[in-house]
Order: sequence, then C-alpha cells, then structure tokens
Amino acid sequence: CTKSTKWKVFLFPWLAYGHISPFLELAKKLVDRGFLVDLCSSSINLSFIRTRIPETYCSSIHLVELQLPDLQELPPHYHTANGLPLHLHSTLQKALKMSKPNLLNILEARKPDLLIHDVKQLWTAGVASTLDIPAVRFFTSCAAMCSYFSHLFVKPNVEFPFQALRLHPYELTKAHKVVKEHREDDDPEVRAPEEFTGVMLIGTSREMEGKYIDYMSEIIKFKVLPIGTLVQDPMTSVDGNMEIMEWLGKKDKFSTILVSFGSGYFLTNQELEEVAFGLELSQVNFIWVVRFPKGENLSLEEALPQGFFERIGHRGMVMGGWAPQAKILTHSSIGGFVSHCGWNSISESIDYGIPIIAMPMDLDQPMNAKLLVEIGVALEVLRDENGALHREGIARVIKDVICGKSGENLRCNVRNLGKKLRFKNVEDIDAAVMELTQLCHEKNHSSWIRVMGME
Ligand code: UDP
Repeated sequence: CTKSTKWKVFLFPWLAYGHISPFLELAKKLVDRGFLVDLCSSSINLSFIRTRIPETYCSSIHLVELQLPDLQELPPHYHTANGLPLHLHSTLQKALKMSKPNLLNILEARKPDLLIHDVKQLWTAGVASTLDIPAVRFFTSCAAMCSYFSHLFVKPNVEFPFQALRLHPYELTKAHKVVKEHREDDDPEVRAPEEFTGVMLIGTSREMEGKYIDYMSEIIKFKVLPIGTLVQDPMTSVDGNMEIMEWLGKKDKFSTILVSFGSGYFLTNQELEEVAFGLELSQVNFIWVVRFPKGENLSLEEALPQGFFERIGHRGMVMGGWAPQAKILTHSSIGGFVSHCGWNSISESIDYGIPIIAMPMDLDQPMNAKLLVEIGVALEVLRDENGALHREGIARVIKDVICGKSGENLRCNVRNLGKKLRFKNVEDIDAAVMELTQLCHEKNHSSWIRVMGME
C-alpha cells in the first residue's frame, strides 16, 4: 500500500505563543521533508501565525481555524493564552474541550494521515482515534522537566534520581501545583492504550539531555523522539526594530544584556521593582522588555520606580509590548540574556551562543534553569528562602556574566553547544521523520485492509 501524494500531518498546539512557535518550526521542517501540514488554532492566534509563515511555505502549510465557544467569561479576544491572566487558563482549556465536535468535523474534512498534538491537549488523541487517525504527542519543553514532572506523577514517594536538578525548597510548591493541574487536565476518556501510538516528540537533543530522555521514556513508557531544538529564524521577527538595532549598534561587543520574561509571564510589582534596581546597580547596558497582561493599560513610567529613566540615561532601553527577541539576541553587542528560562528563549540563546542569566519564575522554568546550570551555559539568580528576588543578587550575577571570568567560560560553552546542536538537530529531525512516515504508512495500510473487508 503506497501513496503517490504527500502525507498530510495535522498540527494542533496549545493556544500560547510559546507552544505555537515550536509547532510552527516543526511544520517547516516537515514541509522541507515532503509533508503537507495543517496547522490548527483559534482565529486570534491564526492572525499572528499568518505573519510568521515565510512565503515559501505558504502553499504547504494550511491554516485551519478551530471555532471556540463564546463563553461569557472568555470572549473571542481571550481565545489565546498569550497575555491571558493565569486564572483564565483553565477556562480556555474548558472552551477547547467544548469544541471537540468542531475538531472532529475538521479532521473528517481534512483527512490527515497523522495528528501531532500538544501534551496539554491529550483529549485530541481520543477525537482522532474515532477516525482512525494515529496521534502523536509533542512536548514543547525539555526532557529534564518532563522526566521530573512524570516522576512526580508516577513515583510521588520516590526521590528524583538526578541531584543536579534538585529544585530549591521555595520552588517545590509551584512544581506540585503544576502536576496537580496537569492531572486535572488529563482526560480519562483518552487513557485507553489503543488511542495512543505510544510515540512522543520532544524539542530537544540527546547532545544536551540524553540521560533525561532515557529516564522519561522509562517512566512514561512512550517511545520518545527528540527532534532537536526548534529555533525561529531571527529574520521573521516582527518589524519596527530599526531603532533598537541602531541603539545596539552604538554599544560595544558583548556589553549589553537582553532582559525578557517570555510571552506569558508577567512580573509582580515587587519583581518589577527588584529587576529595575538590579539593572541600575549592575551598571551594565540593557534592553528590557516589559509586558503587562491583557486589559492592564499601565504606562512604563507608572510601572517602574520613580526617576528610573533619568538615572539609567542612555545605558538602558525599556520597551513595552513585543520585542523582536530572536533578532536582538543575534546582535554582536549582546553578551547575556536575563531570561525566565522558557524553553524557546533558551533554545534561541543557545543557538545564537548567548550565556543565560537564569531568573526562572514558574511552570517548567525552575527545572529548565537547573539544566542550564548543569550543562554550563547559565548562572542562576538565587532567591531568598521565601522565594523573593533581590536587586543585589540580580546585579551580582549580571556583572559576573558580562564583566567576569564566569561569563567568558559560559560564552565558550554555549557557543560550542550551539555549534554542535546545529548538526545534531538535523540528524534528530531526520530520524524522527522516518518514524512519523512509518506511522502514516501503517495508518493507510490498516484503512486499506478495512476498506477491502479483510479485517
Ligand atoms: N518572544 C518575542 N518577543 C517578546 C517575548 C517573547 O519574540 O517580546 C518570543 C521568544 O523569542 C520566544 C517566545 O516568544 O520564541 C517565548 O517562548 P518561551 O518558551 O521562551 O516562553 P513562554 O512565552 O512560553 O513563557
């Protein structure tokens, strides 16, 4: 049973930029290897996804809109996790699950050979199985984090075996909360083993995380396929960055840090204040991206300490909203990245050879930060026993990375790793694509047997 046309893969990420972005990079890699791709999301997300698809991919990546119910507490402009206040995330998840019949209709009409869905949307495997479409999970963070959370899930009373990933006591409560929420999200309807292909993709590489990939396969009993780190092309960063690039062009090589906490985390007032004073104390040049949740229309002057802008003068640039992060990170003046340690930001930083000043906040970030310290590409800003950040600690680590010996070592490590990953990533995705192709073949073979009445 062979197929002369291309295999069609249906991609369904969780509705947040940090998840959509690696799915989109995966989409491009699949197209490069001969697949057709459907990428499904809500209308509000599709409008920005459209701007990120280079013209050469437009005919092979088909965007599919999933209509979500218009709930009173979640009107359409909230049908995205970008900028959505955290307390509304479970409502968004509820709206998605209510749209099961819509997804079923879409899959029936689009007839994909394979579904690749976010681990945050396990229920989609159940929908696909009713149409005999094989489903593969995609985990968009690192293996260290997945092995830790799976361990908490499966062996809650056994100590986690990897010492280097030990969380600080102040991080444990949040980690347990994430596991609890995931358990609540998990849909018993899709627990039946026949609905799983038993395959899971992960956007990482054995080069960095071999032992964690092995441990997570052992724990979750899935075949885990690393597909390499997925990094957006800096040239697809949004426009409007001439001013930043000119400003950066006047700074010395490696003299400046980018400070950014991703698309979905918003600093508390206390954190904003400590970061602001930490940057002041460090005396290092910086670009700081300050974002607020949807509906909070604060000006930067109102949000930051009084007199901040006068005191930092030309040494710092503060931007509201969305920054062309990937493009900034590739500029030769950038010498460090103060990051919340979202997996995409980390992958970009490693790819561009930039040492990380880790300031993890929530979710997978504390575990990601421990991994980065273990592999020698980051220093972490430690908090006090209550989990509070302090300006002196922030300034110390920034100075260490930009002006100290530790910075030189980190830079050397991260550059070496970035170079190795560029090769390994190609090998990883090629190997994974062979497995995915096999699943498409098997699916079509069994459908053919059924149609011929040979079952
Ligand atoms: N990003 C960006 N501009 C911003 C903030 C974020 O381009 O102002 C991009 C960043 O380059 C990365 C993604 O958004 O690709 C954030 O993903 P990450 O996993 O780091 O964090 P999350 O947003 O999921 O917390």
